Amino acid sequence: MSLIKTHEEIEKLKRGGVLLSATLRKVMAACRPGVSTKELDEIAQREFARVGGTPSFLGYKISADDPPFPSAVCISMNDEVVHGPATPERTIRDGDIVGLDIGMWHEGLATDMATTVIVGDVRPEVRRLVEDTRESLVRGIAAIKAGGWVGDIGAAVEDYLKPKGYGIVKDLVGHGVGHAVHEEPQIPNYRDPRGPRVRLEEGMVLAIEPMVALGTWKVKMKPDGWTIVTADGSPAAHFEVTIAVTKDGYDLITPWPDV
Ligand code: MG
Repeated sequence: MSLIKTHEEIEKLKRGGVLLSATLRKVMAACRPGVSTKELDEIAQREFARVGGTPSFLGYKISADDPPFPSAVCISMNDEVVHGPATPERTIRDGDIVGLDIGMWHEGLATDMATTVIVGDVRPEVRRLVEDTRESLVRGIAAIKAGGWVGDIGAAVEDYLKPKGYGIVKDLVGHGVGHAVHEEPQIPNYRDPRGPRVRLEEGMVLAIEPMVALGTWKVKMKPDGWTIVTADGSPAAHFEVTIAVTKDGYDLITPWPDV
């Protein structure tokens, strides 16, 4: 399986990415106090069915012995960083920040994206965390061009966030995507001197996804076996887009879902 996608594959990925972004926008619009995470997931699943897509996270297993992931959208609130399952019991409340991470198979190829929604009133520092995490993703993708290094992305993210004192999650990273939900290379959101030096090449398709906490960068697993939370209980934000590396920069595969 090549890390490089053909022109035809990138065109297919773009068609899927537009549909994925439109789906995420619908879920975002429904993300209001009183709505259960299950209801949000149903919106995504209905939309996928309508556009001929298949959820890529539903049923996903990290290894063969793991239980399958139970929903199409990962919904991770407040101190939850990523991988929160949608359930009828978990309901959105005023003051929550809600990470929505969504992935889809379409025309045989996978795309992946995420956003964090601010619901009602949140503390100013939490609002800043969300805004700064989004901006760090903008900085990260701006560092992309063929001939550069995968490490340029994490360096740009870190340079933006570190002076502000945030914790950049280290245990989870961005990744290649397209033929599989998770492909090489791994894309840390920080400088990783021990990591492999991987060149950015035209036609690579990458999911870039800074995960950022107001407190520590350290995370732990919730007893549900899926949800990753910050170790100190501080709020965390997450944004993600899929891009294709081009000669001069990148092509956005999943348009920003901002309304
Ligand atoms: Mg991802």
